[in-house]
Amino acid sequence: MQQLWIGGKATPSRDGSPRVIEDPATLEVVDEVYEGTTADVDAAVQSASEAQTHWRRVPGVERARMLHDVASALRADRARLSELLTREGGKPRIENLDEVEWCAACFDYYAEIARNSHGSSVPPVAEHQINFTIKEPLGVVGCIVPFNYPLLLLTWKMAPAIAAGNTVVIKPSELTPLATLRMLDRCTSPLPHGVANAVTGGAAVGEAIVDHPQVACIAFTGSTAVGTRIAAKAAARLARVNLELGGIDPCVVFEDADLDVAVPGVAWARFLNAGQVCTSAKRIYLVEKIAKLFIERLVEHVKTIRLGHGMNPDIDMGPLVSARALQRVEDQVGRAAAQGAQVLAGGHRQPSAGPGHFYAPTVLTGVSPRHAVVCEEVFGPIASIQVARDAEEAIAMAARSEYGLGANIYTSNLTWAMKAMTEIKAGTFWINDPLTDNDAAPFGGMRKSGMGRELGEEGLDAFRETKHVHLDFVPEKKPYWFPYRRRADEIPS
Ligand code: NAP
Repeated sequence: MQQLWIGGKATPSRDGSPRVIEDPATLEVVDEVYEGTTADVDAAVQSASEAQTHWRRVPGVERARMLHDVASALRADRARLSELLTREGGKPRIENLDEVEWCAACFDYYAEIARNSHGSSVPPVAEHQINFTIKEPLGVVGCIVPFNYPLLLLTWKMAPAIAAGNTVVIKPSELTPLATLRMLDRCTSPLPHGVANAVTGGAAVGEAIVDHPQVACIAFTGSTAVGTRIAAKAAARLARVNLELGGIDPCVVFEDADLDVAVPGVAWARFLNAGQVCTSAKRIYLVEKIAKLFIERLVEHVKTIRLGHGMNPDIDMGPLVSARALQRVEDQVGRAAAQGAQVLAGGHRQPSAGPGHFYAPTVLTGVSPRHAVVCEEVFGPIASIQVARDAEEAIAMAARSEYGLGANIYTSNLTWAMKAMTEIKAGTFWINDPLTDNDAAPFGGMRKSGMGRELGEEGLDAFRETKHVHLDFVPEKKPYWFPYRRRADEIPS
């Protein structure tokens, strides 16, 4: 049984019950954690709050050294962390090894940029004055994380938050808490006790963090529905929020695209992590000229995707994370087929891959914006394809959405690429290379896909306030102070 992580040590829940964590590929029990309670959240917030009074004063150079040490500890523990990520979430181990490395790189990145960024000087308005800004931490940051990239999406919050002098209280997904607890136990020992705390459990734990009066900021990644609820609650007490929400990202393949690149690119961008990626290619638009050939080649390619347990090195795709997720995908495909969509590949569960939540990679054509698979987020391995008359129509179709997380296109035609980039609302726009993130570049969504940005300098500023300091180094009484009668002649008659 794994314990909560509070005040730098494994801590039993005050009155929480146990919760079983299942391997989604085998349905075997991997471990147990506590279903945390409001009292546990309060203890974690107190610990974070006490630690923050010291942590915010630690010099930037020292904080940077500790963050680099966390990065080294993550790399040293990559074998076990990646295994836990696979056993609790189902992703292939190779993807989880990458996830751990990306976390380490992100800690290294924020160690450096936070130590080199602390405000700036600004021109004064009069003689013998100096004006400058300093960046201050917010206090305690609540980090609420989804199941699909448990360590990476935590790191995108935790690394900049603590680099800026905040402390954190983490709530992992109820489905995937094990790697997070391991990371806190094994990899955060360079940090003073209380800087990072975690409470496991479900939505009630998340709500207790959002409602806690000592939590200054909530950094949330998850669905638009939950994010909207969190934004409303946080607004009621004027707590800050950073919201990374759902997406129904478009992907456009133009007629000049090199299909040797576009076909495997689209397949990877849609079926990576069994389609459980916020920025995966969920609405695919093909220009008519290449549509038939592209679809034939995609269907062939999809047949080569090997399903199985993520610990097996000879597989490409694992299971969906839960029975609920599997059922939802099955329903979405069923409804699309009933509304006239053609299922060209997959369209069924895949029990031959194991007893867990496996669904075959699926290709659907004949869909339109009235189908739920196009206008609702499908968090599973379903490629929904629509065909456009020409480039103009493809761009217009791709641009039609209430969401705006990412978009990816395939073309070497500069005019189409820049037209699409201008027309499509998206926080990230990928051309010929989908889903590549960069620690130095901001990541986030427009419209219903969220507010605020993670990564880059914006990701650091999400966890800082700016204080303006005005200094007059020759103290003297000012002529514009009281009494105003001295200035009566300045008033126009
Ligand atoms: P989710 O159901 O919204 O859950 C996200 C986190 O919020 C989990 O830890 C969840 O806890 C917690 N939570 C649930 N209800 C809550 C409440 N009322 N108050 C506070 N916290 C609450 O999302 P998910 O199913 O884990 O993840 C899939 C979604 O995340 C998709 O929509 C995907 O697009 C989005 N996503 C977005 C990004 C991005 O960067 N924009 C990245 C990855 C995923 P429990 O799991 O314990 O219920």
